[in-house]
Amino acid sequence: MANLEEEKRIDQAQFRDHLSTVNEDGKRNWIFPKKPSGRYYTARNILAVFLLAFFFSGPFITINGNPLLLLNILERKFVIFGVAFWPQDFHLLLLGSLVFILFIVLFTAVFGRLFCGWACPQTIFMEMVFRKIEYWIEGDSAAQIRLNRAPWDFKKLRKKVTKHTIFFGMAFLISNMFLAYIIGKDQLFEIITDPPSEHIAGLSSMIIFSGLFYGVFAFMREQVCHFVCPYGRMQSVLLDNNSINVMYDYVRGESRASIKDRYQLENRKATLEDLGFSANETFGDCIDCYQCVKVCPMGIDIRNGTQLECVHCTACIDACDSVMEKIDKPRGLIRYSSENAIREEKQKVFTPRVAGYSGILLILLTTFITLLTLRPDTETTILREPGTLYQELPDNRYANIYNVKILNKTFNEMPVEIRLESPEGEIVSLGSVDSIQPQNSAEGRFMVQLYQENLSGYQTELTFGIYSGNEKLETVTSGFLGPGNSTNN
Ligand code: SF4
Ligand code: SF4
Repeated sequence: MANLEEEKRIDQAQFRDHLSTVNEDGKRNWIFPKKPSGRYYTARNILAVFLLAFFFSGPFITINGNPLLLLNILERKFVIFGVAFWPQDFHLLLLGSLVFILFIVLFTAVFGRLFCGWACPQTIFMEMVFRKIEYWIEGDSAAQIRLNRAPWDFKKLRKKVTKHTIFFGMAFLISNMFLAYIIGKDQLFEIITDPPSEHIAGLSSMIIFSGLFYGVFAFMREQVCHFVCPYGRMQSVLLDNNSINVMYDYVRGESRASIKDRYQLENRKATLEDLGFSANETFGDCIDCYQCVKVCPMGIDIRNGTQLECVHCTACIDACDSVMEKIDKPRGLIRYSSENAIREEKQKVFTPRVAGYSGILLILLTTFITLLTLRPDTETTILREPGTLYQELPDNRYANIYNVKILNKTFNEMPVEIRLESPEGEIVSLGSVDSIQPQNSAEGRFMVQLYQENLSGYQTELTFGIYSGNEKLETVTSGFLGPGNSTNN
């Protein structure tokens, strides 16, 4: 960890030109954030308990028999909040993704990275699970630094081995839950209970994901937010001067002076010039105590302004509030605010940009909900059997043979019936479909017989209705081949 005086110099002079987690030799500056405490940290803890409970129980929650969330890329099955999406619903998934992305853009334009600090799984697991385990085993920031600098002995080895064993156990648990969201809980259970030889691929994924999560939370940590997360990279284009961020009130805080300097000036033990200030310097509320920097898990100084690295974890707000209380100043020197609110004391949320995003979001959302509501529970294809012509039957009737494939998108077994709606004619089953298993498809064959007077030349368009009981699910069309000279004209 870089020494504090050196950090001060770098931060104030060139903080935008270097990364807080990389030293001048290009090596990693390991961050040892001080354990936070305060009202925001308490609120985040409470929310984290709910979110973690939700994450771990998610695979077991069902809505109308459907899992809450299933993202099975291999089998191309997707369930989002109990609504199943099939490859045939690709347009809906695409539209839903657009709605989601635009919602993030709009939310970020107004509230900055609120999501990162309060609800992002990376932050929740890092700060509320792995970091807490680290504090519990190795102690607070200063104790961790001491332990890291100490030579290897039994105590250090014991602490490190215990920590990393628990870390890997947690990573294994997270990887199992993660897989449950991808392949479903039943398949995960089979992987765990069946002989390993039957699920080599499943077990390999489990080990790979465990290693990945262990690497992320034990070693990569804030680097994931800095370099991997695409959302973090987009901040600079999403935020503007009205966006609400964790901000240092520089109008109130500057110029900074330490308690020691203020004491010396007040007691005439030193002059402004002696302490390196200009002759007409006036001081704000920041006492330059660096508590806000010491608690920051990203290793930045929020007093330098909005920065790409800041995940809005609010630890600096809590730290500064407790300092302000101690020196009898109002809380909120660091707080949720916007550049305009601090500089001009004007907080504007509904800007033209936000109005534009909201309008587009509303249109996309309405289209998405309409398409989703109108989407049938089945997907049916009826095609004339390839390579066949029409058959001539007695009484001026003609017949074509059809293949039918019906996909049941629901999670319930579904009785189905195919009815010919136009023109008038008859369906003769040749092993047709009458019931389809949940999330499955069924295929069959049938014959359509039409009287000559109902034909329209070579090609007659047939309209079928797909019914489940009395409920019509879909309308499907197909062509009927007839004799060209036998029209009803
Ligand atoms: S600057 Fe403050 S809010 Fe941002 S990451 Fe650091 S401690 Fe959290
Ligand atoms: S905690 Fe508050 S008073 Fe201390 S350095 Fe940070 S902003 Fe200044």
